[in-house]
Amino acid sequence: MTQLEKARTGVITPEMEIVAEKEHVDAVWLRDQVANGRVVISANRRHSGLEPCGIGEGLFIKVNSNIGTSSDRAILDEELEKLKVSIDAGADTVMDLSTGEEIDLTRRTILKNSTIPVGTVPIYQAVVETVEEAGGLVHLTVDKIFEVIERQAEDGVDFITVHCGLTRAALRMLQTERRVTDIVSRGGAFLTTWMLHHDKENPLYEHYDRLLSIARKYDVTLSLGDGLRPGCLADATDRAQIHELMTLGHLTQLAWEQDVQVMIEGPGHVPLNQIETNVILQKRLCHHAPFYVLGPLVTDIAAGYDHVACAIGGAVAGAAGADFLCYVTPAEHLSLPGVEDVREGVVVTKIAAHAADIARGNKMALERDRNMSLARKKLDWETQLKLAIDPEKARRYREKRPPTEDDVCTMCGKYCAIKTVREYLDG
Ligand code: SF4
Repeated sequence: MTQLEKARTGVITPEMEIVAEKEHVDAVWLRDQVANGRVVISANRRHSGLEPCGIGEGLFIKVNSNIGTSSDRAILDEELEKLKVSIDAGADTVMDLSTGEEIDLTRRTILKNSTIPVGTVPIYQAVVETVEEAGGLVHLTVDKIFEVIERQAEDGVDFITVHCGLTRAALRMLQTERRVTDIVSRGGAFLTTWMLHHDKENPLYEHYDRLLSIARKYDVTLSLGDGLRPGCLADATDRAQIHELMTLGHLTQLAWEQDVQVMIEGPGHVPLNQIETNVILQKRLCHHAPFYVLGPLVTDIAAGYDHVACAIGGAVAGAAGADFLCYVTPAEHLSLPGVEDVREGVVVTKIAAHAADIARGNKMALERDRNMSLARKKLDWETQLKLAIDPEKARRYREKRPPTEDDVCTMCGKYCAIKTVREYLDG
């Protein structure tokens, strides 16, 4: 039975108990949120050593870190280091997006070493293997797609991105839309190429039942992907994107009928003033299934600083109701991220998630900020460093330019504002 099925029969699973405790919410309330699809607990029953994580309405906003090899750079130890850095920096989930050599070995090693849920995009491996075996992605077969999905599910992958809503009808919208950047999703591009070459429907849509039976067997959460997500501000919220989203809403209901847990993926590149609209549309059209946003990036010109563009968009999306933020690193649009890029991407996205948690009135998030402010007022540096989102970096700055008087910092030195007025205002 999946977490959803158990919740519907009134069972509070051990995973629900753990998530309820971590989130400081009532276990019965959490079970009901899982039962109505507003929360997913992404936990493949074969992923041993996993600390379950809840994603959805009423919980802390979660952050995903993308790792994995590419055809140009495939060093397993480096990906394991990225996994460690992601977990240490506070990522709630990690996605292995490997397309380099030894994809099975990479994924299995990541799963073995990951205490947080692991997601994948199985179409990547299906295409890589098809290209290696048959010389081109157009030779991809339906059986190959589902064989890879089952292989990954059997290994213990907790959630998979599947671009099931990229239908022929949605593609027609795209073709008449005259977008600036067409398709920027790798999975979306693979499927589109295959569909146009063979003049056939998307196999993940046409054989959705097959997908549901695998997801149900292992309790893999479906992350219904947005293959037509906008790749630039000019393409945001167009009819191709919304057509796909409407299909995802329908597929969400079909998944729930089979007790399969579902999240919905969202854009992408979106102007700041359209983010809230995107969240409202997703929640309405997809029946409040958790919303997993890939950014959104609020400008197209921040290369080298795209993690900042992402955090701005993520904070606004989170405040508007998005539940899960996929990080972006400073290397976005430029190269495969390195270990330090991954760390920075996670931290910056955690700040966005935390800022949105505060806007949503999360009491624990508010409490943490209040405690930081009290420590600032007391000039209690150890507590400040402990409460900082990145204690290591905060300490490095503190120690790099130490003050002559220990209780202040070198910003104002002996003219420290807090210290100057403290004895008068506190008296
Ligand atoms: S020296 Fe200035 S910046 Fe530093 S703690 Fe005091 S008031 Fe704040």
